[in-house]
Amino acid sequence: MPLTDAYNRTIRDLRISLTDRCNFRCFYCLPHGEPSWAKRETLLSFEELEYIAGIFVSLGIEKIRLTGGEPLIRRDVPVLVEKLARLKPRLKDIALTTNGYDFVRHAEALKSAGLDRVTFSLDSLVPEKFAKITGVDALERVLASIDLAQRLGFAPVKANAVIVRGHNDDELVDFARFAREYGIAMRFIEFMPLDSGHDWNRELVVSGREMREEIAGIFPLILKEANRGSETAWKYTFADGSPGEIGIIAPVTEMFCGQCSRIRLTADGQIRTCLFSTTETNLREVLRSSPTREQIVELIEKAVLAKQRSHHINDPEFVQPERTMSFIGG
Ligand code: SAM
Ligand code: SF4
Repeated sequence: MPLTDAYNRTIRDLRISLTDRCNFRCFYCLPHGEPSWAKRETLLSFEELEYIAGIFVSLGIEKIRLTGGEPLIRRDVPVLVEKLARLKPRLKDIALTTNGYDFVRHAEALKSAGLDRVTFSLDSLVPEKFAKITGVDALERVLASIDLAQRLGFAPVKANAVIVRGHNDDELVDFARFAREYGIAMRFIEFMPLDSGHDWNRELVVSGREMREEIAGIFPLILKEANRGSETAWKYTFADGSPGEIGIIAPVTEMFCGQCSRIRLTADGQIRTCLFSTTETNLREVLRSSPTREQIVELIEKAVLAKQRSHHINDPEFVQPERTMSFIGG
């Protein structure tokens, strides 16, 4: 029986955070300063992750995405990918979300280890703005990573831009042009209240509809599928047949919780069933107490059953979760 929650949603997609640390300081995620990082000994080892992933896959998980913090800060990520790849073909897809800073160094090893897909963060195409948003002057380096990912045949290569009013909303059309020229899937994400600085407010959110209209005004778009299933993005192709794709992820203004198939494991081994959960299930503690496989399965099933129906960003009583994006694993 696949993992199913109390609202009859089947869980197929596991996001594993490899570390809460990051070499960037994107203002919408992790501000400057020295946060209190998870202690080294609390991080799940690759052996622990391999074991747990095997259990998740036996429970119907089909996609695993490695994320963070910045996952490539963790040493030897290709070794983990190789371990996870042994779970194929039941595991259908292994993906990575990275800021791209260190991707070039690991790209070939990741590919031969069995990584299927890569998503990069790309919040500006203007070097100074990129540096202002991320805290690091690294646009050229990230573009080189995207280029290499394409040449190595990771397909489709995706790039995420979190659009924040007054920061990069003037670049929507330029991003779309970039997607067309390079044949990549550009994803635009609404700013969510998951920033460590607690600076989020509704005025900073550029709605999915606004993004779509602005892009379609210059490059007419065609919706790929009227039913996106459990996908977070509305996907569009270019009406003139140009390569590339546009995706709009609008969790704030167009909630998609009803079809959610995702579950998360933090770097320190906590199961989170929603980005906005205020409670977690301590898998690490159980895992390190010599449990039987059945005890772990029971814990996972119980956590999934308690998955909340939806987030409450738009409720007046909404409380931002204690852990913010880089500490959860986006
Ligand atoms: N460090 C990697 C990266 O930046 O791609 C992986 C982790 S990052 C937390 C994963 C994704 O979360 C990125 O695409 C990032 O832009 C997105 N993200 C972070 N904070 C966000 C926020 N407050 N609202 C919306 N998306 C956010
Ligand atoms: Fe780091 Fe990714 Fe957060 Fe930027 S979005 S600070 S790269 S974890």
